[in-house]
Amino acid sequence: MMQNLETKQIDIAATLIKKASRTVVFTGAGMSTDSGIPDFRSPDSGLWEKVDPFEVASIYGFRKSPAKFYSWVKDLAVKAYAAEPHPGHHALVDLQRQGYVEAIITQNIDGLHTKAGSTNIYELHGEMRTSTCISCFKTTFNTQETVEKYIEDGEIPRCRHCNGILKPNVILFGEQLPVQVFQQAQEISRACDLMIIIGSSLEVAPASNLPLLAKRNQGKLIIINLEPTDFDSLADVVIHSRAATILPEIVSRLENN
Ligand code: NAD
Repeated sequence: MMQNLETKQIDIAATLIKKASRTVVFTGAGMSTDSGIPDFRSPDSGLWEKVDPFEVASIYGFRKSPAKFYSWVKDLAVKAYAAEPHPGHHALVDLQRQGYVEAIITQNIDGLHTKAGSTNIYELHGEMRTSTCISCFKTTFNTQETVEKYIEDGEIPRCRHCNGILKPNVILFGEQLPVQVFQQAQEISRACDLMIIIGSSLEVAPASNLPLLAKRNQGKLIIINLEPTDFDSLADVVIHSRAATILPEIVSRLENN
């Protein structure tokens, strides 16, 4: 019964994608759990253990105790650097190459869409590839190298020019989103006629306002998420399942129809 419902929803999703002329994908941390990177809100997620991410992963927490921040973020960083894109990421690449998807807006900082080969990606919450010195702001550093060194020697990563503390170029809670990237994401959300939302609890504003922009402009919404979200009632199709299995199924449905 459940299987039939899911099959039907995949059919409807494929039809919506075929009919749409401007489709935008919007992903959250749930897009990456199938690649082994925990999200924030799934039950028993590793990132909730021992610390409150909202405290350590905030700009206030970072300024108060960079040591606490680094001790928490190192596990996420190591997982992100080791992670490989899963079949769902590759399915999005296929959809883009076949002309079905125009852009990918992501809240993820792990760079997996880029690694998979997607293009036209808007990283709303920054990225883990680089870090910037918060004293001189002049130099960017490779975060993987600085985190690996931190794991080795336990010393907080510092600028080799002015000895200031390095901050990975991710947007922490309490920080403003990158203005230009967010404006562009708002524009394409307004202009799209279909938004596919994958693996986001849609609880983190202002990113979570983007589906509302799409909806207000008559865009249709497809939600693919393990658990229900507050936006489910607004969506045209809701699939409560895994990104890594559903996205390839949608691609094969499109190919076979
Ligand atoms: P979230 O943790 O609030 O929600 C994730 C949602 O994904 C949950 O509702 C969960 O049910 C769903 N989910 C989990 N696994 C799934 C799967 N395999 N398939 C489909 N759905 C799945 O994530 P959010 O909405 O992105 O907000 C969290 C914030 O934390 C974001 O700002 C993000 O930048 C950051 N974050 C990023 C990463 C990453 O880059 N991979 C990891 C953790 C947190």
